Amino acid sequence: MLTDRIAEVRDQIATACIRAGRSVDGVQLVAVTKNHPREVVQEAIDAGLRVFGENRVQEAVDKYQGLLDGIQLHLIGHLQTNKAKFVPGVFSWVESVDSVRIAEAISRRLSDSESTCSILLQYNSSGEGTKSGFAEPNELLEAAEQIQGLPGISVRGLMTIGPFTEDRARIAGAFEQTRLLCERVRGQLPDAAINTLSMGMTDDLDIAISEGSTEVRIGTAIFGSREK
Ligand SMILES: *Cc1c(COP(=O)(O)O)cnc(C)c1O
Repeated sequence: MLTDRIAEVRDQIATACIRAGRSVDGVQLVAVTKNHPREVVQEAIDAGLRVFGENRVQEAVDKYQGLLDGIQLHLIGHLQTNKAKFVPGVFSWVESVDSVRIAEAISRRLSDSESTCSILLQYNSSGEGTKSGFAEPNELLEAAEQIQGLPGISVRGLMTIGPFTEDRARIAGAFEQTRLLCERVRGQLPDAAINTLSMGMTDDLDIAISEGSTEVRIGTAIFGSREK
């Protein structure tokens, strides 16, 4: 049952928070519905979930049509400039901003529709070439300054995907680096509401929470494995 799996994930989050001496309220659950159909989203909404993540723009636009009332949808996958027009009215958060250029494209579309968007800068903390995101901390810091000034856009923190490994110390190290970099962004943008550190997925959410994550993005543990 979906409700059982959601309860299990919430338990896991709570356990990790207690172990880390943190408040459970400090960690937001984002339910990742990529590769799952609209009916599953409806079921998840009925089960009480309100914050969702999708990694492909077109898939999300089709799937979530008519379902967006009262929920929050986060884009967690790479965004191409020509798809930025789909952001307003669909995604209230874009977690995968990896260049000034894409942030500018989102901003232009936002001013057309007079809406706003919270964004996270994606940091490639694992150094894996297959992952998007800023690879260089200094490049990310410089981009953060430029992006924060863009109309309609509010920089809220960082997002990262942990390294693909069984080595828990390495995963923890990558998350720690991301948290430290987020602190630097906060120091550099004193007027921005930097309060979000999106890290942790099904396999590493406990490590992420002990390293300070404020948002975990969970697909498999809630919805089962995805059809490819
Ligand atoms: C698919 C995906 C997730 C969810 O991963 P699970 O391991 O299924 O929990 C989280 N974040 C991003 C960026 C993803 O693409």
